[in-house]
Amino acid sequence: MAKILCVLYEDPIDGYPKTYARDSIPKLERYPDGQTLPTPKHIDFKPGELLGSVSGELGLRKFLEGKGHTFIVTSDKDGPDSVFEKELPDTDIVISQPFWPAYLTEERFAKAKKLKLAITAGIGSDHVDLQAAIEKGTTVAEVTYCNSNSVAEHNVMAILTLARNYIPSYQWVIDKGWNIADCVERAYDIEGMTVGIVGSGRIGLGTLKRLKAFDVKLHYTDRHRLPETTEKELGLTFHENVESLVSVCDIVALCCPLHPETEHLFNDKLINKMKRGAYLVNTARGKICDRDAVVRALESGQLAGYAGDVWFPQPAPNDHPWRTMPHHGMTPHVSGTSLSAQARYAAGVREILECWFENKPIRDEYLIVNKGKLAGTGKHSYSAGNATRGSEEASKFEVQK
Ligand code: NDP
Repeated sequence: MAKILCVLYEDPIDGYPKTYARDSIPKLERYPDGQTLPTPKHIDFKPGELLGSVSGELGLRKFLEGKGHTFIVTSDKDGPDSVFEKELPDTDIVISQPFWPAYLTEERFAKAKKLKLAITAGIGSDHVDLQAAIEKGTTVAEVTYCNSNSVAEHNVMAILTLARNYIPSYQWVIDKGWNIADCVERAYDIEGMTVGIVGSGRIGLGTLKRLKAFDVKLHYTDRHRLPETTEKELGLTFHENVESLVSVCDIVALCCPLHPETEHLFNDKLINKMKRGAYLVNTARGKICDRDAVVRALESGQLAGYAGDVWFPQPAPNDHPWRTMPHHGMTPHVSGTSLSAQARYAAGVREILECWFENKPIRDEYLIVNKGKLAGTGKHSYSAGNATRGSEEASKFEVQK
């Protein structure tokens, strides 16, 4: 029998919901590239309910305990006295969400002597030291595509929020004002602007498709070029490198994974190659940007705005400068954990676990590391190495009630 340790974010401060804003969520059959949605044999939750917080348990308890496994769910994940660290030594399987990541560092791998499988309930396994997983033979799997379009939607929202100066305008309403000039002195249409996407994978392509309707000029860069038919259909301009892309764009959105090649890619040097007054949107990973370089660029006016929902580490310390820098449109890490997305990744985790316990192969597209090397999506989208350094800072966060 296995011990499964699952780290989820905390329940709502006013208690687990008794009712929901909507009665149902749309049922999708396939993702845009034809990939099927998760296909577990059964689910024990109602799609559209809160599953990603501790009481939601990703809807897994009945299934796991019914098979005689031990299932521990906690949000206490940081520091040596955390529940996560105490339970880790005899754990077989860790489940963690990128929104509230249980960082699996080299030190933690050394303690986790029995760990065989690390599942990301979502997309983005950079909270796992992939190099250590490769060396220890731990399988790493994520639920590829489960929330890619959730994030693509958020990207469009973030771009419009910044360019149209939405947040300050909303604030004038709350403050009982009617200060139109204050609202519009930084407001622009995006029509005619040049938008560049870094990483044209599932989120990047989903963002490009959604932006096409706004009559903007679409540019992108990636390690692998998109098919010519897609480039023609969307009117895309390809750039061989990110420097060339950023030099012509009014808006840049980051849609690539965090791995050694992309860590701190957007530093002072690269941001200073952007057009003055460009907007930078990052829903990929906080560490792709140099934290202080972003603050400096907003303060100097090099960037007109920065938005997104990813930070490093997570949760971000209460004094993280991105909470207070000017012209930002930050949220906590939420874009990939809408109720709609939760239903998909909870089902995907269940599918992965069913395969694991029945000794059946996990879908190739879900694999990041397998049998001591990058595999499946991991082989295509990541590079080997470790991007978890500095994650212990997450223990500085104090919950605000
Ligand atoms: P995909 O694997 O479909 O796409 C990632 C793309 O990034 C691939 O096309 C890959 O290129 C490209 N890429 C990798 N390295 C580079 C590089 N050095 N320069 C340019 N492009 C690069 O993943 P998704 O689109 O589904 O997700 C992307 C990332 O978004 C995740 O890894 C995660 O970090 C983040 N994410 C955030 C969420 C949120 O809630 N905010 C939710 C889900 C994901 P190629 O494969 O051609 O080598």
